[in-house]
This record gives sequence, C-alpha cells and structure tokens, in this order.
Amino acid sequence: MKVLALLHTENNILPRAALETISVARSLGGELTIAIFGGSAATAANTLAGSGATKFLVVEGEAFLQPRYSTDTAAATALIKAANPELILAPNTSRFARALPGVAQRVGAQVDTHIVGITAEGNSVKVQRWFYRQRILTTFTRVARPWLLLVDGGIQAPYEGASGTVTAESVPVAQAVSRTTVNGVQAPAANAQTIRPDAQLLFVAGAGWTKKQKDGQYHIGEASTLIQGFLQKAKASLGSSKSLVDLKSEGQETLSFMSHMNQIGQTGSTPRHQKGLSTCCHGEEPHAVGWRFITERRAINIDANCGWAQGKADVVYIGDAFEIVSKINVLLG
Ligand SMILES: Cc1cc2nc3c(=O)[nH]c(=O)nc-3n(C[C@H](O)[C@H](O)[C@H](O)COP(=O)(O)OP(=O)(O)OC[C@H]3O[C@@H](n4cnc5c(N)ncnc54)[C@H](O)[C@@H]3O)c2cc1C
Repeated sequence: MKVLALLHTENNILPRAALETISVARSLGGELTIAIFGGSAATAANTLAGSGATKFLVVEGEAFLQPRYSTDTAAATALIKAANPELILAPNTSRFARALPGVAQRVGAQVDTHIVGITAEGNSVKVQRWFYRQRILTTFTRVARPWLLLVDGGIQAPYEGASGTVTAESVPVAQAVSRTTVNGVQAPAANAQTIRPDAQLLFVAGAGWTKKQKDGQYHIGEASTLIQGFLQKAKASLGSSKSLVDLKSEGQETLSFMSHMNQIGQTGSTPRHQKGLSTCCHGEEPHAVGWRFITERRAINIDANCGWAQGKADVVYIGDAFEIVSKINVLLG
C-alpha cells in the first residue's frame, strides 16, 4: 500500500502532531512517502531521514509560511498529486482541519477526521473514531482510494529517529494565489495561555468557585488568584465546567481568564492529560465525559455526597477548595 504522510511545519519545525503522524504511518508498514510544506520544509525532511520513507516531497516559499486556506489547499493538492498515494495520513492540526476537506474534493479522495486508531493488513485498512461526543467508539473501513485521514493527537508517541540528509523533491504549485495577506498575529502571552495540551495535569474548575462560601460572601477575586497561582506553579492546563463558563454570558461576575474554550464535557472537549484534579465541580458531563481519557483522577469537593466526584474520581478530598488550593500553592513554593 502506498502511504503518504502529509505534514506542514510550524515556526520552521515539525510540530509534535506531525511526528506522531509519522509514528502512525510507520506502524502500517506500507511504502511510505513524506510530503511537507511550509517554512524550512526541506530541513524538516532531514529530521525524518531515519523514518524509512522511500520518497520525500516538499513545497517551500513565502506563500506557504502562513496558514491560509487558498495556499494551504494548493500546496497539499500538488503534493498529493505528485505522490499519488492510496492512503493519506495528516495530523489533525487546526491548519489541516480547515484545509484538507477541500483538498479531498480537489484530488477526488474520501476524507475522515478525528481518527484515533488505524490498523492495516495489506491494503485493508480499519480506522476508529468516536461518535456522539466521545460516547460510541466506531471501527470502520472504506474501499474508496485515495482515503485521507486526519489523525488525532496523542494516539502514538512522537517519532524520534535519527536525522540525516535526504533528497527532497521540490514540487511546483500552480495557482498559489491569494488575496489574503497576514499582517501579524494577536495572541495572549505564553504565560497567559491557560489551555496547555502538553501539560501533565488538567485542573478543572467548577462553578463552586463563584458561589457564596461559608461566610455568606462571594470570593471570586480570591478564587482567581488561587487558580492562576496554581496553574502557574504546577504548569497545569485549565478546564472548566459548563456552568462556570456560562456565567459570563449571563452577565454574572466570574473568572476573567476563563472562556468557553476551557469547557470540558459532552458539549466541551475531552483532553488527554495524565492527571486530573477537579475542584468545586459537581456535574456529570465534566466528570463522566470531560475527563474520561484522564488516567489518574482526583477531586476536591466540600460536599461528601457529590455523586459524580465519588463515582468517577480515584481519590476525593472532602474539604474546602479555597483552603486546600491555598495550602498546595504554598507547598509548590
Ligand atoms: C445537554 C447538556 C450538555 C451539557 N454539557 C456539559 C459539558 O459539556 N460540560 C459541563 O461541565 N457541563 C455540561 N452540562 C451541564 C452539567 O449538567 C452541569 O450542570 C454542570 O457541569 C455543573 O457545573 P458545576 O459542577 O461546575 O456546578 P455545580 O453543579 O453548581 O457544582 C458546584 C460544586 O462546587 C462545590 N463547592 C462549592 N464551594 C466549594 C468549596 N469551597 N470547596 C469545594 N467544593 C465546593 C459544591 O459542593 C458543588 O458540588 C450539560 C448539560 C446538558 C443538559
């Protein structure tokens, strides 16, 4: 089977998701071609010299430095046509998630996204993805080729082979014309970023942080300081219950650094950190769905009868999260 690993660089290097896709491609055992576009694509190809790929294709140039639908689809289409593969694996980065369905249409491929498992026996390929908000895991196959698969992060360890010097074939791209120019990037400072997929720990904050506490008062400012202090010291990622992020749209005072992007659960995300600590959080969806892929789960709740924390966490600390997190922050130094 002819397999193409289709990758792009990010800030002139291959992102972790691309290296994970290489591991997935290698596990299938076909005839592997690697295609890369973006800044320093040929240099990035050298870092995959030991991958066992028989061919390397690259698209480089000013037009492909920035994520942009028109240029990304043009580059990916040219690379796929040059490789003529049966199976195309690409990391499910936001850049590819946006561009590759359109690329599939241009090259006459079938496309499936959010793939979490792939096995191959000869030309027969079976893939897995979740449906109905991560509740039903499905295994399926297609006979149509080419078949383009966007591979989710975290399903294989990143490829770590030796670098070397490869002969990368430069593929010309016709019609890489765009009316969109990128003037710059506006993003929060790195230390203000609360969603950290690579963090070891997911800290889940629930609406309890914004409720009246035992003195009959709200302590939202203190909650902000404690949570942000913990995130900084533990280098943790921040998840939230839906109730907490919804407060903002109801006009109530809440944690300013929290947005709907932090929400985990049935209608939020299902991150894959090693450890999870849920605080002031009662809901079924965050506990049952939101952190179902978290390996070690602990919860802090003042209510000993919090059924979801009891049922879904490995360890539940019955106590006041304000006092406990404050103490942890002191211990973290
Ligand atoms: C269709 C549908 C989809 C949904 N999808 C999602 C989803 O994706 N994600 C999601 O989160 N929710 C979702 N929900 C909502 C969900 O059912 C719950 O309403 C929500 O998760 C509750 O949020 P919470 O636990 O933060 O707040 P609450 O239920 O208000 O719980 C607050 C908790 O804080 C505790 N607490 C208070 N003070 C302290 C303290 N000082 N120390 C320790 N503990 C304290 C309380 O004991 C309580 O257990 C969905 C609901 C529906 C109907």
